[in-house]
Amino acid sequence: MNVLAVGCHPDDLEISCYGALAKYRAQGHDVAVCHIANGNLGHAVIMPDELREIRFKEAEAAAKVIGATHYSIDIDDLYVTAENDTLIKKLAAVVREVKPDVVITHWEKDYMNDHMQTYYATFRATFAASCPHFDLEATTSSVPISPIYHMDTVSGAGFLPPEYVDISDVIDLKLEALSCHKSQLQWMLDHDGIDFLDFVRTCSKVRGYQCGVKYAEGYRLSQNYLRMVPRRLLP
Ligand SMILES: [Zn+2]
Repeated sequence: MNVLAVGCHPDDLEISCYGALAKYRAQGHDVAVCHIANGNLGHAVIMPDELREIRFKEAEAAAKVIGATHYSIDIDDLYVTAENDTLIKKLAAVVREVKPDVVITHWEKDYMNDHMQTYYATFRATFAASCPHFDLEATTSSVPISPIYHMDTVSGAGFLPPEYVDISDVIDLKLEALSCHKSQLQWMLDHDGIDFLDFVRTCSKVRGYQCGVKYAEGYRLSQNYLRMVPRRLLP
């Protein structure tokens, strides 16, 4: 299978779905990761232009940990909107290149607008990518519309997962990938007052308790026409 995960900030996929992505890779599937925002506002000291480059490299290193292909749409923080036609064209081009059998992205009620908009942008772009006459200037051709799984919200707030992925055997890999985001270990301490690695390990442990394994991630299949499938696509 081809798996495409679309996150908002450069570290969001590591937080919520890198366990499943690592498992897909272990099972021999191809995985592509794409972040929409460049993360340029995620630091109290480092200025936006410099941070944008740092965070691209951090995401690139994290993708390497699990052997995923890495894409960036490069929208400035707080300006992610599904109404941005340029964003949709760039994301649809990624979708057409990856040809995903399954897409993973945010839950529409996650904690901040850029995350919500990333879901709506993914919903729009995956549909657009299926229309042969969308973006006639593009060099890519249309692909089938893809099922979408929502990954957990940050901290799991407001998200009750009907499906789980046991990530006990890849939790160290997930945290190793997350550790690549050194700028964010400091930012999460400064902005949210939390130990980022402990936070993600603990959330994975809670999801694990819920389904009877050591560590897990929670997911929901999008319940929209053309997005539902009669079989499980999670690893
Ligand atoms: Zn984020």
